Amino acid sequence: MSNIKTTCPYCGVGCGINAVITGDRKVEIKGDDAHPANFGRLCSKGTHVGETVGMDGRLLHPKLRQNNGQNNFDKQDDWQDIGWDAALCLMGEKFGQAIEKYGPDSVAFYVSGQILIEDYYLANKLMKGFIGSSNIDTNSRLCMASAVVAHNRAFGEDVVPVSYDDLEAAELIILVGSNTAWCHPVIWQRIEAARAKNGAKLVVIDPRRTETADCADLHIPICADGDAALFGALLYQMQQRGIINNEYLDNNVNTPDGFWDNLDGDISACDIDPDDFAKLTDMVAQYPKMVTLFSMGINQSKIGVDKGNAIINLHLAMGRIGQAGMGPFSMTGQPNAMGGREVGGLASTLAVHMGFSPEECKDAQDFWQSPTIATAPGLKAVDMFRAVHDGRIKALWVMGTNPAMSMPDSSFVREALAKCEFLVVSDCIEHTDTAQYAHVKLPALAWGEKAGMVTNSERVMSRQRALFPPPGQAKADWWAMAQLGIALGHEGAFSYDNAAQIFREYAAQTAFRNDGKRKLNLGQWAGISDIEYENWHPTKWGGASPFADGKYTHKDGKARLINIDIAASVAANPDYPLSLNTGRYRDQWHSMTRTGLSPTLSRHRAEPLVEIHGDDAKKYRLSDGDLARISTESGAAIFKVQVNDAQRKGDIFVPMHWTEQMGKGGLANMLPAQLFDPLSHQPAYKNSPAKIEKI
Ligand code: SF4
Repeated sequence: MSNIKTTCPYCGVGCGINAVITGDRKVEIKGDDAHPANFGRLCSKGTHVGETVGMDGRLLHPKLRQNNGQNNFDKQDDWQDIGWDAALCLMGEKFGQAIEKYGPDSVAFYVSGQILIEDYYLANKLMKGFIGSSNIDTNSRLCMASAVVAHNRAFGEDVVPVSYDDLEAAELIILVGSNTAWCHPVIWQRIEAARAKNGAKLVVIDPRRTETADCADLHIPICADGDAALFGALLYQMQQRGIINNEYLDNNVNTPDGFWDNLDGDISACDIDPDDFAKLTDMVAQYPKMVTLFSMGINQSKIGVDKGNAIINLHLAMGRIGQAGMGPFSMTGQPNAMGGREVGGLASTLAVHMGFSPEECKDAQDFWQSPTIATAPGLKAVDMFRAVHDGRIKALWVMGTNPAMSMPDSSFVREALAKCEFLVVSDCIEHTDTAQYAHVKLPALAWGEKAGMVTNSERVMSRQRALFPPPGQAKADWWAMAQLGIALGHEGAFSYDNAAQIFREYAAQTAFRNDGKRKLNLGQWAGISDIEYENWHPTKWGGASPFADGKYTHKDGKARLINIDIAASVAANPDYPLSLNTGRYRDQWHSMTRTGLSPTLSRHRAEPLVEIHGDDAKKYRLSDGDLARISTESGAAIFKVQVNDAQRKGDIFVPMHWTEQMGKGGLANMLPAQLFDPLSHQPAYKNSPAKIEKI
């Protein structure tokens, strides 16, 4: 029996796993005591990942659609097995023809926080350096693109300024828009252990009374999108009490004109109990060691960037950043969302935390020795699928994600995919909501087969390692991406022997002409050997806080306070009087392609429920177990009703996991509109105007 150290495939906590192979595709899973994210802990999803490594539903060969006609829901006869050579030849032909005839912006990659750093690096290099477009975006756009922009605005670079250890050193932990107990359970275990040991106070700011909120010293059931106003009012109160850190502001922070004049103590946009606000204000004033952890309730909003900056403003103005137990902390959703951001896998970043200034474009092109370089941001997720819909994008490669299910207004996205002239889908699962529209399906390696690096929410880089040999003709995503590069005529730049070679090149790019311009600098690992890469121990880049020295990435070395337009927080639609919120269940992950395979995990919640307050249930004549149709301007979906008073009156909540393939209704992402934050283009999943009726 061999014991292999690897990393959990699910959330951004990035827990280390000790995997003991016990037989043919059988594995025992334990937490890795030596991993700095979890020190041996695992949640239910990680503990039972061994139940999901079977071969059910796997895509094992490249497949070509035969009828090349309209969507026909993936009938088996419609697909022909083809070899990789034929698939790659066709892809080279179709992508090449589109680029030649319509230009580089006529093709796109839509990738995923599930793929590894090496996969991301090659996808970004190929699209931006060799095709010459920035049309590569990722499902991380749906997760924390607003935090990226908030970091860039405040710090000059998308850097997370804290570590998990800070949660254990804090006297006050504020969780905003985060059901941490369900969505980042090992962080929750660490918070609870620390509270038991040091008595730290916990505040939860969330419209829902979640399992997390139930454990808090103070729960503030704020109205959806009220957070920017709340943090603005908090900062105002701190200023009134004279506990702003003027020395830190003078030395380390640039304050825009009118910043303090724009603040006021008005909390009417938050719809909260003034007594709760007074308690929160006292706690913030009393406990300097304060971490504010925020997640999807902040980011998935029309004003997600401003909400993130309102939180960061408070920390900067009080000097509560860069020291143990202090800082604003954006938790990411996926195992490699951070790695993807760092590589440059968002359409809004060129590469390795660089933007699109002429100097940065030259640096990237010189490093890659590439024939061209993208010079402006590309199409971000929502706009990318709009461009597929209206025919501007002719060829699209979707890798490791299921946008037909996960994008907002998903019926529009399905129309777009059905119209796409040439769609390639790489996945380890044969039948997904997205793959049914593909012209070519490529068999990807699953967790337990693929190997490479991931970065978690606190900047720890860990290895995912292979436990089993590749099944069928499944291949690494980096290998498939490199082959397309070669098929497009770039053999010299895309011939790699292994993932270690790609990681070294990525590390070298972070250091290339960096000279202290960016905190992201992995140059010390640019020369590691294949053996050192294989034996890699989880390692954090940037130390406990990259801003411990008080120096930020903006050219003047200072951070920025950001003026926030609080008035923009209010939204109402009389035709759709309810506010619809979507989110996760504790034991499921994304579209359940993996967690749905575990009988143990499926016991927690077996079906998609709409949760509604008792007063609203009476008003709409709904009872527990009824079926109800939820409608928005974008679409409708059916859910079973659960009445509980954990929702605010006027709010309803549905889970995001169920897909068309499961045939149980609950297609949550039919409902949110294609609305997004204007700065980050992150969709607003959390506050959709909706109505509900019994059926
Ligand atoms: Fe996996 Fe996240 Fe659970 Fe850790 S907390 S075991 S990374 S799902």
